[in-house]
This record gives sequence, structure tokens and C-alpha cells, in this order.
Amino acid sequence: MIDLLPIRTQRTTAPRLAPLEADHLEFGKLFSDHMFVVDFHDGEWQDAQIVPYGDMAVSPANSALHYGQSIFEGMKAYPQADGGVALFRPLDNWARLNTSAERMCMPTIPEELFMQGLSELIRLDSGWVPTGTGGALYIRPFMFATDGFIGVRPSESYRLVIFTCPVGLYYNKPLRVRFEQQYVRSAEGGAGFAKAAGNYGGAMYPTKLAQQEGYNQLIWTDASEHRYVEESGTMNAIFVIDGRVVTPALSTSILDGVTRRSVLALARDMGLTVEERKVSSVEIMEALAAGKLEEAFGAGTAATIAPICTIGYEGHDYDLPVAGPNAFSKRVGAALDAIRSGEGADVHNWMVRV
Ligand code: PMP
Repeated sequence: MIDLLPIRTQRTTAPRLAPLEADHLEFGKLFSDHMFVVDFHDGEWQDAQIVPYGDMAVSPANSALHYGQSIFEGMKAYPQADGGVALFRPLDNWARLNTSAERMCMPTIPEELFMQGLSELIRLDSGWVPTGTGGALYIRPFMFATDGFIGVRPSESYRLVIFTCPVGLYYNKPLRVRFEQQYVRSAEGGAGFAKAAGNYGGAMYPTKLAQQEGYNQLIWTDASEHRYVEESGTMNAIFVIDGRVVTPALSTSILDGVTRRSVLALARDMGLTVEERKVSSVEIMEALAAGKLEEAFGAGTAATIAPICTIGYEGHDYDLPVAGPNAFSKRVGAALDAIRSGEGADVHNWMVRV
């Protein structure tokens, strides 16, 4: 990567780095030493810098806090066998950040600025990439409004920040999920396809209710009929029905997941039939009853592949068959792991070394 832009770097004088074993890391609690910060004002991105990770002063009147003008991304850097570090499909996250920005009336960020800030940050904190199973550096880019102005209109100034967290495996057990048929995450025409902060705040209450009932996550259904599968928690939902890989088609209410996209590409590479279409809860339950629902899993950056063991539907719990070693979810998860570690052939050119 050629470094084109001047990014001022202020190194921490108090490094906190200790040897990192993926097994002992709780998601999202530990932050690496530095963060990338760049401000947008007077119509331009300015003052790109890498500074020690820490608190920031913001106006209490900013419209991120009041009106949710705030977006984010989630991506990972993986340790490579030769000691290097590589990012998985970072341009997909950059593009989605800009899609989210447009939906929320925020400025887009140029590719070079995003990629250079990201790469310099990861290089500087490469010692924070953990070792061990599932070890990776989770990367959280986010952008928020910074005007000190309380009127309801798009802010004129913004800040983009990228910080990182060393992480291990996200879920260590298959998930118990239930269809949500009262609350919705997002409606067609809403902002569900954007990684906008408010989508996540609004999902917390229904998720909490399901967790109180003993489920790990919800399967969201569509806003008009509560009939069609949308997503599973903060993952895309993928099913294997009668040998075919089936997933809800993208819409304005579904996040276009990078993991989903990758799983579908690998499924096609394996010669499997992939169907992106409407999938109803009734179809899932009928397939399960007929012994044709072979697998169900969530796909997302944090967990990669999260197998579902139980689905709650209309007050009853239904167990899925246990996925064997040759199950698609296992094979595709292993294929993704191999590409990410540099051990498998990266035929799609997904990995970017920093
Ligand atoms: N859906 C939602 C609502 C999410 O927040 C995420 C996590 N970004 C996903 C799906 C999965 O997307 P990705 O594979 O890009 O992490």
C-alpha cells in the first residue's frame, strides 16, 4: 500500500500491550493502544491523525447523540502464518460505510483516506493481533455528527474514528433463537440496510425479552406480515434446505453482510445451488418437520458462522439436527478460516496485507 496522505502520528507514551491469547478475550472490552481520527469540516476531511486510544470531547448538542446521526462498521484483521497481518475484504466495509453515510446525510469518505488510516493504524498496533483459535483484531470504524447544534437537520461537521479490539471466538455454543413476530428491526424503506446506530439501539429491547425467555437471539421477520425471515440478531440468516443454500434476498431492511456475501460465493464455488429469495417462517418450520432443514446459521464478522441448534416458533421450541463434520456450515467456516489465515488459496482476492 502506498502512503499518500500526511497522517500525523502521536504514539502513546504508556503502551498497555501484553501477550494476547484469544481464549481469554471477552469481545469488545479491551482496546488497542491507538486510534485513527479524521474530522470533516468546511466541506472537507481534515487533520487525519493517529493518537493514543482514549476519551474524546464532543459537544453535548451534537446530532449523533440526539438524532442518531451516527454510523459504524465492523471488520477484522487476521494473523498470518508468516507473522504478518491481513484485512478481510476491507473495501467492502469501506463501501458499506459510504452507503450508510449517504442514507444518514453524512459525508462519504474517500477510499485512499480510509484505507491509509486503517493500514497505518493496524501496522502500528500489529502487536495487538492475538494468537490462538479464533484470534483476530476486530476493527470498529465509525462516524458521527459533531456540530454543536440542536436543530433537526444534518450536521455540517463530522468525525470518523477507527479503533481496534483484540478478540477471540464470539460464541462457543450453537444458538437458541426464536422468530420475532411482534417487534421489528427495520421496515422496507427504513434504514435497515445501513449500519446506523439507531437500528441497534431499537433492537435491544426485543432482544432482551427473548434473552429473558432463554434464547440467545431473535430471527427478525418482515415489518408488514411478520412472515418472512430478515436476519438473525446482528447476523444474516442462512439455511440449508434439501441440499440448497437459501437466504433472504437483500432489501432496504436487511444489512448486506460481507460474511453472507462470502459464504454465498464459496457455496457457488463448491457447486451448490444458492437461492436468494423470500424465506418464510412457515417454510422453515415445514422443512424442519419434513426433515429437510439440514442447517441454519447466522453469518457475520464477529462470529463468522454461528450454528443454530433450536428455533422457537409460536411458543414451542424445535431442535435442528446436529450438523456433522461434512455440513456446509462447517466446510464453509473452515474455508473462510483458511483464506483468512493465508493457508487457503485466496481465489477471490479478499485478503489485503497491511
Ligand atoms: N446484519 C446486521 C444487522 C449486522 O449488524 C451485521 C454485522 N455487521 C451483519 C448482518 C453481518 O454483516 P457482516 O458479515 O458484514 O459482519
